[in-house]
Amino acid sequence: MGVTLRLDLDRWREHMRVVADATPGLVPVIKGNGYGYGHRRLARESALLGTDTIAVGIPSEVALVREEFDGLILVLQPWRPGDKLADELLDDDRVITVVSRAEDLQALIRMGKRPRVLVEILTAMRRHGIPANELARAVADLGELRFEGWTIHLPIGGDDRYAGAVRLARTALDARFGPLWLSHLPTEEAIGLSRQLGGTETPVPIRIRIGTRLWLGDEGSRTTVATVLDVHPVRRGERIGYRQRQSPLDGWIVVMAGGTSHGIGMEAPTPAASVRQRAVSMATGSLAAAGLALSPYTIGGKKRWFCEPPHMQASMIYLPRSQTPPQIGEEVPVELRLTTALVDTVDEV
Ligand SMILES: *Cc1c(COP(=O)(O)O)cnc(C)c1O
Repeated sequence: MGVTLRLDLDRWREHMRVVADATPGLVPVIKGNGYGYGHRRLARESALLGTDTIAVGIPSEVALVREEFDGLILVLQPWRPGDKLADELLDDDRVITVVSRAEDLQALIRMGKRPRVLVEILTAMRRHGIPANELARAVADLGELRFEGWTIHLPIGGDDRYAGAVRLARTALDARFGPLWLSHLPTEEAIGLSRQLGGTETPVPIRIRIGTRLWLGDEGSRTTVATVLDVHPVRRGERIGYRQRQSPLDGWIVVMAGGTSHGIGMEAPTPAASVRQRAVSMATGSLAAAGLALSPYTIGGKKRWFCEPPHMQASMIYLPRSQTPPQIGEEVPVELRLTTALVDTVDEV
């Protein structure tokens, strides 16, 4: 019942094994919605893969994974003064803290604790990090902090990515030697970087953080389905839903499991495209012209239209009269973006 992620466990694990075998120093990233699977499951899978370190996004996620995984846990969001939970984690020997400003390094040193730290370098992303020209001064004296290496979070696109990574890494290693923790650099490039900077005899140790490609890279290992909760006949012009809009068609209202609480109908807005699409559909007299939006539910081989924006745990969908409505209790495919969706059940098959 509800919204279900149906998982071919053997196939999924096979995919993860292939990624892990091809990725030296893999650090699985477990954050946000747990990539649809949930934090605990991914922490357990990481333990099965035999990795010694995993990464989470924010301090509160440490509690979600630490019972399932007994290695080190990297918190990706940089430490800032005054975050109570992040401060507690400084005393946790299994946690690695990221520091992304010179003044935060100084503040941490003054606290007199001995956390494991990664120092973040500002990249072309311009999200977090110490600029390259300030690195040497920032790490000249790290007091009692346990330096675990450098963290480099690269943009996903960009022509100059590899060259940029080499430049930054060289500057960092000149300032202080340590492993390079990399994100969004293809594995071959990361290995190349490690050899280019350290030599083939003594490559610089690298750690490669991967989330999406590891957990979600094999689409064939899963399906997502939702239960039909109710079906009602409707006539064109009858009023329906919270908004009491008139139905633009004769047919059926299919009430589906899944709504905003599952992340359904929460796609990022694309105003320019939708205005254009609206004009096109107006001209062709489609349901988009009636102001409807295409839903992620497939019934009778086609995506169907929302009657109105999804509700918290259910969505109302139109089905034209030419179609045979599904049975209540039946499951139909629903397309979910698993980096934002929350399913009710993960079913292993
Ligand atoms: C989220 C995150 C990752 C993992 O990203 P994916 O695209 O899911 O592989 C890696 N590194 C950092 C710093 C991140 O914030």
